[in-house]
Amino acid sequence: MITHLGIVGAGQMGCGIAHVSAQAGYRVTLYDLSSERIEAGLATINGNLARQVSNGKLTDEERREALSRISGSTDINDLAPADLVIEAATEDESVKRKIFSKLCPVLKPEAILATNTSSLSITRLAAATDRPEQFMGIHFMNPVPVMKLVELVRGIATDDTTFRAAKDFVGKLDKTVTVAEDFPAFIVNRILLPMINEAIYTLYEGVGSVEAIDTAMKLGANHPMGPLQLADFIGLDTCLSIMQVLHDGLADSKYRPCPLLVKYVEAGWLGRKSGRGFYDYRGDVPVPTR
Ligand code: NAD
Repeated sequence: MITHLGIVGAGQMGCGIAHVSAQAGYRVTLYDLSSERIEAGLATINGNLARQVSNGKLTDEERREALSRISGSTDINDLAPADLVIEAATEDESVKRKIFSKLCPVLKPEAILATNTSSLSITRLAAATDRPEQFMGIHFMNPVPVMKLVELVRGIATDDTTFRAAKDFVGKLDKTVTVAEDFPAFIVNRILLPMINEAIYTLYEGVGSVEAIDTAMKLGANHPMGPLQLADFIGLDTCLSIMQVLHDGLADSKYRPCPLLVKYVEAGWLGRKSGRGFYDYRGDVPVPTR
């Protein structure tokens, strides 16, 4: 039975998963490399819970209870009691492999290990662990407290007990599951990221400005957010990694990452999380950067 959750990575996704899991009654240990990351993550979670209180969706007592279930750590050994660990670190296969090699010896033999990867092969990541049968993809959407969907992805070796435990866990968070096969970027990002990449090509080729492209897709296709605004929200480094995985994994030139996306990432303009991307977020209102 899963009662204690471990999370690797206190970024946007790790914090979101910690938030909804603690709210659903799970004990959570949130691990990252530095105490600054952990502190910033806990502050974000507290801010988001407080917003739910002011919207009347949560009582202040529930906010305090949820927060008290989360502990932060920079010591990977603190993940030892976890029944399920979800890896939500940077979208880079070598980073994830290194994490698994340090994490696996710490875990209980029966613990389930999952990854929140947006695009990497679950089967290949599973092969880098000591427990491919107890490994799978549990792919949350951003922002986790708001988005209803979770994609579940089995690797070739994932056993039924693991799959059922993951499905049960996601159900307790009041999210809806879709099952995707283990192909690059699964379902949502296989469809969404080429659209975002195309929007960046549209900008790169001068067909429209940032504002024109986002307005066009919001009002012309009824999208709640423009594709460039969405790219900033996801993180441009994550967008680029997913396009690279699609390009490499499916070997089709239609997935070629736009050179302008590469340039933004090289500049460290990663979107909202770094203060600048297709928009500049450092003032009161976001201002297009092109
Ligand atoms: P992020 O950049 O906000 O956070 C990543 C965190 O991982 C950082 O806090 C970093 O310090 C930490 N980290 C890096 N190396 C580490 C290590 N060795 N040990 C422990 N922590 C380490 O990224 P994110 O947007 O939260 O994405 C995390 C994962 O979730 C990625 O696999 C991404 O593809 C996936 N994902 C992202 C989104 C999205 O919209 N951003 C949506 C679904 C899934």
